[in-house]
Amino acid sequence: MHVLIVYAHPERRSLNGALNDFMVQHLRRAGHVVEVSDLYAMGWKPALDGADRLDRDPQARFDPALDSRAAYQGGTQSADIALEQDKLRRADALILQFPLWWFSMPAILKGWVERVFANGFGYGVGEHSDQRWGDRYGEGNLAGKRAMLVVTAGGWESHYGPRGINGPIEDLLFPIQHGVLFYPGFEVMPPHVVYRTSRMDADKFAATTEALGRRLDTLWSAGPLPFRRQNGGDYAIPALTLREEIAPGERGYAVHLARGA
Ligand code: FAD
Repeated sequence: MHVLIVYAHPERRSLNGALNDFMVQHLRRAGHVVEVSDLYAMGWKPALDGADRLDRDPQARFDPALDSRAAYQGGTQSADIALEQDKLRRADALILQFPLWWFSMPAILKGWVERVFANGFGYGVGEHSDQRWGDRYGEGNLAGKRAMLVVTAGGWESHYGPRGINGPIEDLLFPIQHGVLFYPGFEVMPPHVVYRTSRMDADKFAATTEALGRRLDTLWSAGPLPFRRQNGGDYAIPALTLREEIAPGERGYAVHLARGA
């Protein structure tokens, strides 16, 4: 299999750097092809702007979505964007690896998503009508591929538990797992989160890599998060609300998971 790891940490001699090295070695030893997009090392430009469309009239009003679509369809995207899209096409699985910063991904990684998941590639795919709201949430250009988050957090696991002060980790990661990954079609594996990073030592690092190795070994065999597919019949179209008879009276992120499915 072919794995793309998009890695967002400014320092290779960090815990994330060590975990990245471990993942690359572990996956290669298992026979997989691994590519790493080390965003800081690449000098990745995080800001989506008019320079992303090479044939843009500089006098014209810049429209982030429409210019993205024109550039994608016309083959006039900035080369760095097109290269990352090619890596995604080659990949059977995508791993986004990052330290939790302000309860989300580092800005450089958000900028990778904003620019690489272009209009026509990551969104704006498929028929949009009263009957159908595009190929998204389980369908789209990245369907058939798997994705997983590998995240480190300074906070304790209990801080991110069901009643933890930071909010449940699955809620914090929902916009990334459901919004960024399931939306363009990925099957999303449960995240691998390393908590309380300041307490890392040789023993904990060994236990951490052992656990992470097991997750990598089951990347293709374990079940993904059972997010409900937009076009699978659970949602009323065009309102895009969950049908009343499904999880009646319930609300919040968890209703979008088909528990017991
Ligand atoms: P490092 O700082 O590089 O290392 C952590 C520890 O692991 C160190 O003690 C180091 O010595 C040790 N270590 C490194 N490599 C090895 C190795 N090979 N073997 C054994 N030990 C090793 N945390 C939250 O929980 N929620 C937040 O919202 C949040 N926001 C943040 C925002 C910012 C801007 C910053 C800077 C931090 C934030 N944090 C937050 C904390 C952050 O998530 C952690 O600092 C980060 O995940 C640690 O990862 P690292 O790779 O930077 O670790």
